[in-house]
Amino acid sequence: MKKDDIRLMPISNGTVLDHLPVGSALRIIEILGLDKPKSAVTLAINTESKSMGKKDLVFIEGKELSREETDKIGLIAAGATLNVIKASEVKKKETIAMPDHADGLIKCMNPKCITVIEGLPTRFSIRKDPLRAKCRYCEKEMNEKEIFNAIK
Ligand SMILES: [Zn+2]
Repeated sequence: MKKDDIRLMPISNGTVLDHLPVGSALRIIEILGLDKPKSAVTLAINTESKSMGKKDLVFIEGKELSREETDKIGLIAAGATLNVIKASEVKKKETIAMPDHADGLIKCMNPKCITVIEGLPTRFSIRKDPLRAKCRYCEKEMNEKEIFNAIK
């Protein structure tokens, strides 16, 4: 594959996630539930990028992402590019943004939190630079690494 060129991509219909930070691709397919034998996923890990030095890419055959899935990816790979592929052409391209809040997207890491004890839907406010997620129930703050691991 040429640098920053997804024309030679291995899928004809589906989604390409480009410009992912190195180390995020495997976690992303796990978050999307695509780490299963039946999924048609191609990964490019630690590949050359003109704009980033190194990057990961994920090619997902036959799937478009929901808003919720895109927001989850935004928590660990804001600034990545989402391409929607139809008949081997890029039909839509957008930059994935960091969501302002993450309701139901991550688990609270405080074992005493009511969302953990009673299984309530979680609600988090997101702050950027540095990235923090604050539980709106117990006020526990989670850092970037904790968020990375806590995405459902
Ligand atoms: Zn909490």
